[in-house]
Amino acid sequence: MAEIKTVGVIGAGQMGSGIAHVCALAGYDVLLADLSAEKIDAGLVLIERNMARQVGRGIIDDEAMKAALARIKPAAGLADIGATDIAIEAASENEEVKKQIFRDLHEHLKPDTLLASNTSSISITRLASVTDRPERFIGLHFMNPAPLMKLVEVIRGIATDVATYEQAVTFAQSLGKTTTNAEDFPAFIVNRVLVPMINEAIYTLYEGVGTVDAIDTAMKLGANHPMGPLELGDFIGLDTVLSIMNVLYEGLADSKYRPCPLLVKYVEAGWLGRKAGRGFYDYRGEVPIPTR
Ligand code: NAD
Repeated sequence: MAEIKTVGVIGAGQMGSGIAHVCALAGYDVLLADLSAEKIDAGLVLIERNMARQVGRGIIDDEAMKAALARIKPAAGLADIGATDIAIEAASENEEVKKQIFRDLHEHLKPDTLLASNTSSISITRLASVTDRPERFIGLHFMNPAPLMKLVEVIRGIATDVATYEQAVTFAQSLGKTTTNAEDFPAFIVNRVLVPMINEAIYTLYEGVGTVDAIDTAMKLGANHPMGPLELGDFIGLDTVLSIMNVLYEGLADSKYRPCPLLVKYVEAGWLGRKAGRGFYDYRGEVPIPTR
């Protein structure tokens, strides 16, 4: 099995840019892909801004930042990604989108490229089944923001072989992360517990039990959470939260996972949270203002 030296990241949004950031700082050469050159550029701008913040806080020095930025290049297309040692898919949380990416990648893949998905909830076994190498396919679930959060959940599909699992764990550890193993059931561990809590907070808002401010303050001061659940939902992205609830609802066939209608309404409005400038808070001014 070839040593991992180059990493392809598909999707240059919040997570893809964070993963590229972490990989480049760890010394890997990274190629970043998205739907358009503009989206890749936006990802690169985000990476530079986040690294500059790390320099400001003394976490990395200026030289490390310059070297890491020089290691990240835009991918010209999926052919570039197929030539890397590990391709990490971090596109939108939509099963068909992800499957299509892996189908399109297929013809460009070198024989031993490891395939990974950063999905928050979708079955690794199902994603792997559309590829030519389900045994070389793994879930590598980074947390948001990837440069700060220590955990990577590692998820094996039914066909993932032991060598792939071990290589993926070694790779995640080489990024300075701690790994936990989660079995391939809807939303794995972190989001199986976390996202229904966010959905319940939205129900609490929907039913008028509390305002946005009351709910977030209650959970921060009453449960010692660093962020309130609505603030956290905005941070994750409400489209992603809704997708995860739907995967839980459909995958576990249990009505306790039904997405709150108010969450659906926010997503339909395009109020997706921080990345859209508005969600349960409006981020367009100096300070976030609750939208309810
Ligand atoms: P995002 O909306 O910020 O970014 C998604 C990116 O994927 C966008 O730039 C979009 O243009 C791109 N994309 C969509 N279709 C594509 C395609 N066919 N080819 C290439 N690029 C494509 O979303 P995100 O928060 O970065 O989430 C990405 C993935 O990471 C999802 O699977 C999500 O569940 C997972 N994830 C998210 C979080 C979180 O807190 N947001 C945490 C862990 C994992």
